[in-house]
Amino acid sequence: MGRLDGKVAIISGGARGQGAAEVRLFAQEGAKVVFGDILDDEGMQVEAQVRELGGDVTYVHLDVRSSDDWSKALATAEEKYGNVNVLVNNAGITFGTKGIEDTSGDEWDLMMDVNVKGVFLGTKTAIPAMRRAGGGSIINISSTAGIIGIGRTAAYTASKGAVRIFTKATAVQVSRDGIRCNSVHPGPVNTPFLEETTSNPEALAARLSKVPLGRLAEAEDIAHGVVFLASDESSYMTGSELVIDGGSTAE
Ligand code: NAD
Repeated sequence: MGRLDGKVAIISGGARGQGAAEVRLFAQEGAKVVFGDILDDEGMQVEAQVRELGGDVTYVHLDVRSSDDWSKALATAEEKYGNVNVLVNNAGITFGTKGIEDTSGDEWDLMMDVNVKGVFLGTKTAIPAMRRAGGGSIINISSTAGIIGIGRTAAYTASKGAVRIFTKATAVQVSRDGIRCNSVHPGPVNTPFLEETTSNPEALAARLSKVPLGRLAEAEDIAHGVVFLASDESSYMTGSELVIDGGSTAE
């Protein structure tokens, strides 16, 4: 028996990295998954790989900044799989290292559009569907940068702080509909997102010196936490923060 048997999930940013790991693990645990991204070739490859292993997953083009794309993703999930009980707002971007004075107004807006407005639009689209389904679980991927003031990229930090507190506002607002909403706060994860750091041995060593467990997370380390929040095992958790950071915020 899978931990997500009977669940239907939508996952954003699922073409690679953590999102792709979530698609794989959700399928293994018995969920049916609609996942979207702007990287269509990579997304269709993930779809083919998971289907070959017997998973029931469907890739759709989904730019999280577009409410039309969200509506189409939701319609696909309801038409193919009946209803939606889980939403993972995973898609996100960063610009590597950029201080406040080096960040343009347009860069700030892009960061907020993808990382914050994308989460808002996904949540807004999913809530009525989860009400129809009798409840659900929304999981927002924030970051340790949403908890402490990691200074390297102030716009990113601000966007992840917004996701953290939007999660709590959502949790309170929809609790009586049987919908839960929690945030996940990964430390550094070994995905293309961290390429600027992983391709530079000095930068990597500096980063790891701030991680008590002494290694980067693998995408699956985070995906396991997301499965827990999607499953009924976490049924008394809402508005809370699941920190998966190798101890980074502990010191
Ligand atoms: P990643 O870059 O490998 O994956 C992010 C995915 O989001 C990509 O497939 C990308 O195409 C997609 N995406 C970007 N813009 C999009 C848009 N407008 N619409 C739809 N999809 C879009 O990075 P990852 O590490 O897998 O990141 C996943 C989440 O985890 C992000 O929200 C990121 O901020 C967060 N996070 C990452 C780290 C890390 O160190 N990797 C740490 C903490 C939090």
